[in-house]
Amino acid sequence: MTDLAALVDRPGDWHLHTDYTDGQATVADYCERAVANGLEFLVFSEHVRRRLDYDYGALRTDVEAARETFDLTILLGCEAKTLDTDGRIDAPPAVTSVADVVTGVFHSFDGDREDYLRAAAAMLRNPAVDVWGHPLLFAERRGYELTDAELSGLMAAAAEGGVLLERNRRYGLPPSRLVAVAPDYGVDFVVGSDAHGVSRLLTKERLAYERAWLAQQS
Ligand SMILES: [Zn+2]
Ligand SMILES: [Zn+2]
Repeated sequence: MTDLAALVDRPGDWHLHTDYTDGQATVADYCERAVANGLEFLVFSEHVRRRLDYDYGALRTDVEAARETFDLTILLGCEAKTLDTDGRIDAPPAVTSVADVVTGVFHSFDGDREDYLRAAAAMLRNPAVDVWGHPLLFAERRGYELTDAELSGLMAAAAEGGVLLERNRRYGLPPSRLVAVAPDYGVDFVVGSDAHGVSRLLTKERLAYERAWLAQQS
């Protein structure tokens, strides 16, 4: 098992999409750019769903080949949406059992505000989930204003589940209110570009900017 906590303070990008799904670059393209950008690791958090329409095994093979070629820590990941108030995610066991990093998110979700909060807390306690990707994107899109108590409840769930929170550069999330609460619960942040092409891959400067922003809010 990969020790994700050991990567938290190292320069890397936790959120990438390749041309296996809606990205424009290959695993090797990102690795090449990562070396140029001075990064030490990458997480290929590729979109998955229970019925996959591409070959996740081929992505895994690409990642394994890249490990041989590049002087980088290269992690096989997946990004899966939360399905229900039990916190189940839309990923097949064949994927979650081999992925080094499982990122749980909300994209579409069938339910009201209460359901969303229950589902988010349950997803954060789901032992399969390692990272909460673009936190509160769904809440923002629905216009949910979460109370301090609700934010604290989510951070308590993240702490219990040992889940890392993503600072997502593409969406500029989570909002500062959530970042401010996280340290009280010992919840750590990682930074992801949510890149769909190499130009969006984190650089050391972008990473420093996001970390400084995180430090200012907490
Ligand atoms: Zn997403
Ligand atoms: Zn994504």
